[in-house]
Amino acid sequence: MKPALIVHGGAWDIPDEAVDACKSGCRRALAAGWSILSKGGNALEAIEAAVMVLEDDPVFDAGYGSHLNRDGRVECDAIVMNGATLRAGAASTLQRVKNPILVARAILEKCPHMMLVGEGAERFAREQGIALCDPEELISDAGQEAWLRCRNDKHAAEHHRGHEQGTVGAVAIDREGNLFAATSTGGTCCKLPGRVGDSPLIGCGCYADSEAGGVSCTGYGEAIMKIVMAKTAVDLLRESAICMATGAGEPCGVSSGQLAAREAVHLLAKRTHATGGLILLDCHGHPGFAFNTPRMAYGYVALDGNLVTAV
Ligand code: ASP
Repeated sequence: MKPALIVHGGAWDIPDEAVDACKSGCRRALAAGWSILSKGGNALEAIEAAVMVLEDDPVFDAGYGSHLNRDGRVECDAIVMNGATLRAGAASTLQRVKNPILVARAILEKCPHMMLVGEGAERFAREQGIALCDPEELISDAGQEAWLRCRNDKHAAEHHRGHEQGTVGAVAIDREGNLFAATSTGGTCCKLPGRVGDSPLIGCGCYADSEAGGVSCTGYGEAIMKIVMAKTAVDLLRESAICMATGAGEPCGVSSGQLAAREAVHLLAKRTHATGGLILLDCHGHPGFAFNTPRMAYGYVALDGNLVTAV
């Protein structure tokens, strides 16, 4: 089958000055993943490569340059899920790992459990040959400045202007039809130490089922958890492509992926009054995305092979 790839760099009030950086980060992530998929490579390798690019880019809230917690430390969460086996690998509250997606993958492939947190997750990572870093190495200047402004005043979104990042994620299907989805985040700024959001939770921040599709979410984690948004979107993908606007059961020219994405975000707003977004691929590789924030950074590989990015 034709491979497919979609990525995101978070749904927030991305300021004008960060738009170009978000687009170019998504483009580089797509290029990294697509260079693997287009040569017949594996979807897991592709999303790992794409997510690592996003984690390494301080414009996004994952890996280096993540938001700091109330104590001024970076605490990262990540998950990757295999749509064929429904097995996930998830890690949470990592403080000493540059690329949390590597730990999630190691848990997926080599751990009897599906989720490890904190010190135990870091110990497992080290045992699997993943180097641990000094926690300070994850802190960018912009992240530190934003945190200091919040500490000296009170936590407020405007203190993060210019450093208004978001969670990252990717979904890929390879030529063999393997479907994987992944999400990686530094969580919300000034969060309490030990806070776990939706991102690493199976069904909340990420879900993949080869029979329907794969999803990665972003936004206010405490709300996304309430509607188990990634699994909800995958379940919506199972429903036929009926135009929800007419309700008449007539095809409306909008893909079922796009309808499922919109409906899941609509449910988030309706039931929790919160904001967020998601990306998805249906099991045929058709992309879908939706958000109710002012902006979301995302990109996908179009049918003609062009890399499409938008903020
Ligand atoms: N969903 C993430 C969290 O709550 C934040 C984000 O998507 O930006 O940890």
